[in-house]
Amino acid sequence: METYLGLDLGGTKLLIGEVDGHGNVLKYKKYTSGYFNQQAALAIIRESLDDYIATTGWSDGRPAAMGVGLIGRVDPNKGIWHQIDPNRTHPIELAKELEQAYGIPCRIDNDVKSATRAERVWGVGQYSKDFVYINVGTGIAVGTVVNGRQIRGSHFNAGEAGHTRVGVNLGVKCVCGRYDCVESIASGSGIDQCARLLCKDYETSLPIPPENEGRVKAHDVFRLCQEGDPLCKVLADNAAEGIANLIMNMVRITDPDTVVLGGGVVAEEYMFENVLRKLHPSTMRFVTNGVVLTKLNPEFIGLLGACAVAMNM
Ligand SMILES: [Zn+2]
Repeated sequence: METYLGLDLGGTKLLIGEVDGHGNVLKYKKYTSGYFNQQAALAIIRESLDDYIATTGWSDGRPAAMGVGLIGRVDPNKGIWHQIDPNRTHPIELAKELEQAYGIPCRIDNDVKSATRAERVWGVGQYSKDFVYINVGTGIAVGTVVNGRQIRGSHFNAGEAGHTRVGVNLGVKCVCGRYDCVESIASGSGIDQCARLLCKDYETSLPIPPENEGRVKAHDVFRLCQEGDPLCKVLADNAAEGIANLIMNMVRITDPDTVVLGGGVVAEEYMFENVLRKLHPSTMRFVTNGVVLTKLNPEFIGLLGACAVAMNM
């Protein structure tokens, strides 16, 4: 049986695992990398992969190929990881480096584009050829599948829809240079930013850690919101409004029959239901399969995506 090795590299962690052609996770191990820059990433990957091979090993001979899902801008055709930080480009031939080091064919892709591949191969792609996958986690990005193919753009930047405005106007500056991008309103990092901005104007019992010492937890916001906390109500309402408008914008742009939501912020039932309530039926009437939460295990969607990259699906 052919198997595939996947590496899901997030902002602070690395998940390595082996998956079969049906999307079953056979083995895996988690590594905590801490915050890292792009230059340090190759060393972190190699160190963890060496440990994985030594301690976990293959389930049944060497995997047929390996795939890596990465944050930032990635050229999957040439196997080049261009950048994490939009202000600093530092291209690395990651696929070639890993292939030479381990003797296993290697392919790489961006993490949300990888998760969208997993959705296409093992998730809603089984009944839809036109869907959008919207990831609302630490950041916000969208994978768009049209006629069964994922849109990538001329610089592999397609789907950076987190950097669009969605009718919530607070004056929050975004890393991209614009104000009030949906990522600055509704993602994990955006909710943190908004909490710091608005905590002077509303009463709250929300724990807000000092800057650079951690982030406001979206889960705390949704819990306190249901207890009537004034700040948390505003934060949760803005986030739901932003996500709902992003969904409706995407629906108008690509005419999908299915919208799939993934990521920690929308996995909260309270948030998911609030978003659904804000969708307008006349905009949503052609989304025949509706707005659904991903059926793929959120813990493994990045790993499955990396393996779909390895399979070149
Ligand atoms: Zn932005």
